Amino acid sequence: MPSTDAARKNALELIRDLFSQAAEAESPADASRFVQKARRAAQRQRMRLPKEYSKRFCRHCGAYWKQGSSVRVRLQKQKVVYYCLGCRHYTRHPYVREKKGKPF
Ligand SMILES: [Zn+2]
Repeated sequence: MPSTDAARKNALELIRDLFSQAAEAESPADASRFVQKARRAAQRQRMRLPKEYSKRFCRHCGAYWKQGSSVRVRLQKQKVVYYCLGCRHYTRHPYVREKKGKPF
């Protein structure tokens, strides 16, 4: 089925919902299940997860990350490095600085 704007919008809402459920889940296993569903919803629409969500779970093992308990976050040069305590993989996200050197 071709994905329509409406279908994408629905998927996005579902993804939002699933991630907020993951944030409130009682156990890490439950949280990861919500992440898994959200990823699948995005895949079905062939869309990327919004950036804000793609940084909240491990793309290697799918674990939902809670700061301080399932992930360690470090800053390196231009990069945020997430170390997943579940699968011991690193995920790096470059952070692009806004290139607004001079005011005018
Ligand atoms: Zn992991």
